[in-house]
Amino acid sequence: KEVLLEVEDLRIYFELGRQKVAKAVDGVSFTIHKGETVALVGESGSGKSITSLSIMRLVPMPPGKLVSGSVKLNDREILTLPEKKMREVRGNEIGMIFQEPMTSLDPVFTIGNQIMESLLHHQGLKRKEAKNKAIDLLKLVGIANAEKVVDEYPHQLSGGMRQRVMIAIAMSNNPKLLIADEPTTALDVTVQAQILKLMLKMKEEFNSSILLITHDMGVVAETADRVLVMYGGQIVEEAAVKELFLNPKHPYTKALLKTMPSLDQNVDRLPSIPGSVPPAHSFPQGCRFAERCEFAFDQCKQQLPELINVTDAHKARCHLYSGFGGGSIV
Ligand code: SF4
Ligand code: MG
Repeated sequence: KEVLLEVEDLRIYFELGRQKVAKAVDGVSFTIHKGETVALVGESGSGKSITSLSIMRLVPMPPGKLVSGSVKLNDREILTLPEKKMREVRGNEIGMIFQEPMTSLDPVFTIGNQIMESLLHHQGLKRKEAKNKAIDLLKLVGIANAEKVVDEYPHQLSGGMRQRVMIAIAMSNNPKLLIADEPTTALDVTVQAQILKLMLKMKEEFNSSILLITHDMGVVAETADRVLVMYGGQIVEEAAVKELFLNPKHPYTKALLKTMPSLDQNVDRLPSIPGSVPPAHSFPQGCRFAERCEFAFDQCKQQLPELINVTDAHKARCHLYSGFGGGSIV
């Protein structure tokens, strides 16, 4: 399969003051192939959003600092592109959807104008053509009365409808990569499922790839081909979606999977993993999950594990697999 995006040894640190550095993204490497949906999963504070923002070069620097790394889109390095060129990449080659209502559309412009803005800017269409294309895009994202909605304002639409509009805008220039950061987190469960289905449909329609950022393993199960699990600014496990769910290796992934509601469970109260993600300015010397890990042993506190191949296409960052073993069989 052809590689679309290649991220290598990405490190984004934040200077928080004297002697205080937050290692928000700390040596992250992964690839996304053409046509693939890759989920980046972890609790909040694990570094997923900064990872996605840095691919789009939207991390404010300073206070952020690119310490190392390379991000190649179709073999072209984008971390060193001049800002003007980068703006073209963001409009044409990478589409973005964020959590509603954070993304929110501009309240003072009609839906049509907001979709057209990107079309006029990047495709040089005439106004009439752009408006027709906006209507087509609204239909494509499942908005039935598109001719009417195109002249409406964001507050006249439901959250789910607004997110459909955001998807229309993100896809308006046929991007090769769609980055979606918690796109359904703020929506009702039934609407969530519709939006996820729509994203996958758009991916097929436009022949693009998706990087989906989420904390929800249910969303991962429904959408992803491959999964990257992030913790403490690093990837701690990587596998195809089926393999990850059937055969999780890292204790953190196992704990995350336990937080998934099963169908017969009362969803009111989800179990969560005891403890919290260590702050990025004071990672422990050893394994960053050690404080919360039920399998931790001596070596874990002393040495940061490497991300290693457990089997051919399955990686984990855990001493249980790196030869120390700690005597446990997992
Ligand atoms: Fe747990 Fe040790 Fe593995 Fe870290 S390295 S996840 S503490 S067993
Ligand atoms: Mg986030």
